[in-house]
Amino acid sequence: MDKNLQAAADKIKTARHLIAFTGAGISVESGIPPFRGENGLWSKYDPQCLDLDFFHAHPQKAWIAIKSIFYDFFGTAQYNPAHQVLANWEHEGILKALITQNIDNLHQEAGSKNVIEFHGNSQKLICEACHQQFLPSDFDLKVLPPLCPHDRSVLKPDFVFFGEGIPEKAYQRSILEAKNADVVLIIGTTGEVMPAAMIPREAKQYGAIIIEINTEVSNYTNEITDIFLQGKASNILKELEQSIM
Ligand code: NAD
Repeated sequence: MDKNLQAAADKIKTARHLIAFTGAGISVESGIPPFRGENGLWSKYDPQCLDLDFFHAHPQKAWIAIKSIFYDFFGTAQYNPAHQVLANWEHEGILKALITQNIDNLHQEAGSKNVIEFHGNSQKLICEACHQQFLPSDFDLKVLPPLCPHDRSVLKPDFVFFGEGIPEKAYQRSILEAKNADVVLIIGTTGEVMPAAMIPREAKQYGAIIIEINTEVSNYTNEITDIFLQGKASNILKELEQSIM
């Protein structure tokens, strides 16, 4: 077995408080492309639809693009073996918390329970007036924008738009987990989006060992990563799962 893979498996097996920090890369094998890059979502859609001011000014226009990306497209994606391994590890008590930047709900669909949704979740809608949450399936999305049944306000997907702050509770829980972690597994993220990108750095400052899985080097690789496992998230996580059994 590869030396790095064995070293990572040993750290995972003996960790006191293992946490995972995931990004768009873990869902690429589920068919969800990242935002940026050649085949990224922004090569097809205008990112303006996720700008909070634009959304408030032009809810119907924004909702047409939002429906196409997050309900017609994300809504049909299935979790992949990488999501599954993390859910198994939580169930077995190996993984203590999962902080995700993703908004696709695939960790939750794979069975992970202790998921900190740093950027919210596209598979929930929220009324900005009465703060009640709804499921997209409660609405006929042929009629846009969907309206709150109580006060007729426009419903917003419950994820963080450009120009919006991070949900306070998710932020505070992430910092606590970072401080408490002795091993952090970073999976499929460039480490460019702030303030999320600071979470593994915070853990490193508090002495955590950093294991990174990515198909390419990221901002973290030469800065804080102790063990770099290059490859697809599903292949590497399946191999790690085998080797800690
Ligand atoms: P990113 O798009 O900046 O980077 C993706 C990373 O994943 C890259 O480093 C890439 O090398 C790596 N990668 C690609 N395929 C991989 C694979 N099969 N296995 C392992 N790694 C792989 O993603 P980011 O750092 O998460 O930042 C983008 C922001 O956009 C985040 O805030 C995220 O919430 C959001 N986003 C979310 C989704 C989603 O919910 N699935 C999709 C696109 C963007």
